[in-house]
Amino acid sequence: MNEARYSLTDIGINLTDSAFDADREIVIQNAEAAGVKRMLITGTTANESEQALRLCQQYPDQLFCTAGVHPHYSKEFSSTTRDTLAALLRQPEVRAVGETGLDFNRNFSSPEQQIRAFEQQLELAAESGLPLFLHERDAHTRQIEMLRHARDHLHGGVAHCFTGSREELYNYLDLDLYIGITGSICDERRGGELLRLVKEIPADRLLLETDAPYLIPRNLKPKPKSRRNLPVYLTHILEQVAQERACDPQELAQQTEGNCQRLFRFNQTE
Ligand SMILES: [Zn+2]
Repeated sequence: MNEARYSLTDIGINLTDSAFDADREIVIQNAEAAGVKRMLITGTTANESEQALRLCQQYPDQLFCTAGVHPHYSKEFSSTTRDTLAALLRQPEVRAVGETGLDFNRNFSSPEQQIRAFEQQLELAAESGLPLFLHERDAHTRQIEMLRHARDHLHGGVAHCFTGSREELYNYLDLDLYIGITGSICDERRGGELLRLVKEIPADRLLLETDAPYLIPRNLKPKPKSRRNLPVYLTHILEQVAQERACDPQELAQQTEGNCQRLFRFNQTE
């Protein structure tokens, strides 16, 4: 068997998604064989975060997760939700608060509900000492304002699936946050600005994620029959980012892995 070339962590994968119900075990095995040794499962509701934790417990040292409520589901955020999340955040498998933030693009929950749920999760991050796993769409100004306000109490975080402008990038960097890059970088139409910006991200602030089963890289060769994204494609994203930054993929793999270990404290429990 081929030795995997890299040792990577997919910092954003929706592994509890029903798209993986039929073959989750195989997806995890294939990822590991390809060098994606560790995955951070994204929690999007209290319930899904609990499911994510249970899955992590079946794959110790390989799977970890976040716990939080995605802005779309902010209207469900109650005091019970807060208690559930607080308990989850005490578990060793849970390494970040999120995904949380603001999404004023479709407003599945009202802006007021989103702001309230985000505030609560900023508090949870402060209390737990865990970093934030941030989502944002069409709400950058307000999101940055809230992050700046909470800044002194935060323990780092990542702007997951970053596809914003140059100014937005520097706003996050100014707050000492990490930047998560997905397969959006492989999409000429959506990735144009991102392709330029990815060169500007400091090497010690860059993280890689698939956001699988969403956002399949558009330039995979041969083109897979299924549109389902998989954690194995993280190596493709790595190589694309390395190409744009004109650096050695192996070196980039080591840098992003170091960043990931620092932010999510992967070497501090074992
Ligand atoms: Zn997101």
